[in-house]
Amino acid sequence: MATIDYDYKIDVIKDKIIQLDAKNIILQFPEGLKVDAINVSNELQEVLPDVNVLIDADPCFGACDLADNKVNKHIDLVVHFAHTPLPIKTDCPVLFIEAHSSADIVAPINDALSSLDETVKTIGLVTTTQHIHKLDDMISLIEEQGFSVKLDNGKGTSTGQVLGCNFTSIKNLDVDVILYVGSGDFHALGVKLFTKKPVILADPFKGESRDIEEFYDKIIRVRFARITKAKSAKSYGIIISSKKGQLRFDLALELKKLIEEHGFEAQILNMDYIAPDRLLPFDLDAFVMTACPRIAIDDSAMYKKPVLTPDELEIVLGMRDWDDYQMDEIIIHDEQT
Ligand code: SF4
Repeated sequence: MATIDYDYKIDVIKDKIIQLDAKNIILQFPEGLKVDAINVSNELQEVLPDVNVLIDADPCFGACDLADNKVNKHIDLVVHFAHTPLPIKTDCPVLFIEAHSSADIVAPINDALSSLDETVKTIGLVTTTQHIHKLDDMISLIEEQGFSVKLDNGKGTSTGQVLGCNFTSIKNLDVDVILYVGSGDFHALGVKLFTKKPVILADPFKGESRDIEEFYDKIIRVRFARITKAKSAKSYGIIISSKKGQLRFDLALELKKLIEEHGFEAQILNMDYIAPDRLLPFDLDAFVMTACPRIAIDDSAMYKKPVLTPDELEIVLGMRDWDDYQMDEIIIHDEQT
């Protein structure tokens, strides 16, 4: 497999530090890129030896989770890698560096296109921040092979971009198949759960493509089992996160009221980092996740008790049919704290 490089834009970071006269900065990487953190830190300290460079070692999964309020106001600038900004009010300036990948998109897309049958005419195209700089190349590649391509810009996302919790860019696409260009099942699964359409994943890191259907079937069976188990729950924990981009306080209050109206107990649990062992002290039968929607879906096997999305709770309470299963989203419209 070819070595994949990311463009960490050291010059852009340097210019921003100088412009802000920042003395203390913190670098924030998603889990997959943390291995590069020391190199990036060293490169910055080499060009700006008087600047204190910290690496945020806490888990970081998205732009919903910024390090601006850490280290008790000692930080002048957060440099946040590999995500695009959300409209979140921050305690200090944040520089977003998209960390574009150099991985080849041609082979995996060709592999994906060659797997499609002749009924497919129109393809919906989506990708993530790491590959979005190659969007025009992707479109040309698909059109050259006689397909028509449809893309949209969603709310809070750019054209052709999806987040793990924001699929507005594919909401209204009338297409035969959705082609997701990116690695890992995470986003492709979200696209499938959201659209229910055929989804092909073209993986630039593996240089090949795969259908997400089998993985989707497995996940949807697990969701059905969790919902079934939760139907015997008498008490619920509604989880909120204090991460600014994941905090849905009003939704948590609404869900508490809803659960109580159905005759069950509900407690609201606040957490920053959400993990299975943090739920162990609470003697509750099931949990509803108002923080990152992907925790209930992707981390399900790690939790002993059912962890539901708000829409899944509606199924448990008999307010929604299983056939109307919906993927939970967090769409941040206006700047929020
Ligand atoms: S809420 Fe979850 S899916 Fe959405 S950006 Fe944050 S980590 Fe990603």
